Amino acid sequence: MPELPEIDTPFLLDFLTKLLNTPSPTGFAEAAVAFTELSLAAFPALKLSRTRKGALAATWRGDQEQGPRALTAHVDTLGGMVKEIKPGGRLKLSRIGGYIWNTIEGEGCTVFTRSGRQVRGSILLTKASSHVFGGDVGEMKRDEDTLEVRLDARTLSAAETRELGIGVGDFIAFDPRVELNAGFVRSRHLDDKACVAVLVAAVKALSDAGLKPARTTTLLISNYEEVGHGAAAGIPAEVEELLAVDMAAVGEGQSSDEFHASLCVKDSGGPYHHEMSNRLRALAEKYAIPYKVDIYPHYHSDGEVWWNTGADAAVALIGPGVDASHNYERTHTEALLATTRWVLAYLLEE
Ligand SMILES: [Zn+2]
Repeated sequence: MPELPEIDTPFLLDFLTKLLNTPSPTGFAEAAVAFTELSLAAFPALKLSRTRKGALAATWRGDQEQGPRALTAHVDTLGGMVKEIKPGGRLKLSRIGGYIWNTIEGEGCTVFTRSGRQVRGSILLTKASSHVFGGDVGEMKRDEDTLEVRLDARTLSAAETRELGIGVGDFIAFDPRVELNAGFVRSRHLDDKACVAVLVAAVKALSDAGLKPARTTTLLISNYEEVGHGAAAGIPAEVEELLAVDMAAVGEGQSSDEFHASLCVKDSGGPYHHEMSNRLRALAEKYAIPYKVDIYPHYHSDGEVWWNTGADAAVALIGPGVDASHNYERTHTEALLATTRWVLAYLLEE
């Protein structure tokens, strides 16, 4: 069997943990973009640039100039914004990204004020105490009116909350609660920070082995995916093929799991490029990469976003299986390594 360059697994997991611990709700992802930029700056073969929108592009000159390629993963995550300050001093939330309200109940969070102050808090039901509200706590529908941010600050009025520097439009990041156990990585926002880590680990593996991609390749670390327009800008027009790298949806009826990389052949945006998908399957088989083929029922990727801009190119999607996506997520190191190996095989393919 042909060999792929060795992956530095501790590096991958360390980078991923740090990235997960860097708050980056869509619209406020700069710290995570900058952290990724700093990590990629260690590889001088990559030419780094920023789009006007704030995304990071890294171009690596390949053995051949013709048929340039791109890969993309997104660093922005689900989150919230202060919708209003309630008369009692607590905050009403406006959602950033597509998640169900129940999935954030009880979570710790940080409010980022305009002046740069960080105020901690937690997301709770307006009727949270069972000693006070009894059965209502279980019966209430979770939505924007029944969930609120309780700040860890002495405030009982809107005026006191405003004195903390908090205002409408301030970003709110949810605690990722990163934990590495028995090979599992459990955290919010593995979508899609897991795949940013995969791309950075692939760059390091190739670079450590003294190799470079077969074709000139651009990596786009996009920063507006969760709201639907991440990769709309930033991929060079001459790129002929885009490999989107994003989490695979795990759950009942899905073939994806936490121990494999998945090839998504169809999602809510329709089928991906058949010929490119088949080449990826052939590459997985050539290098004995554990993979699944799947269809994601409620899912869109940055690959389709680029297609929707009118891009005339092949687009395919791979990624590690992530359990409980857009909730308290989990994957396994095996899936991260399988996806990294797949990316390496693709980068080296003539
Ligand atoms: Zn994603």
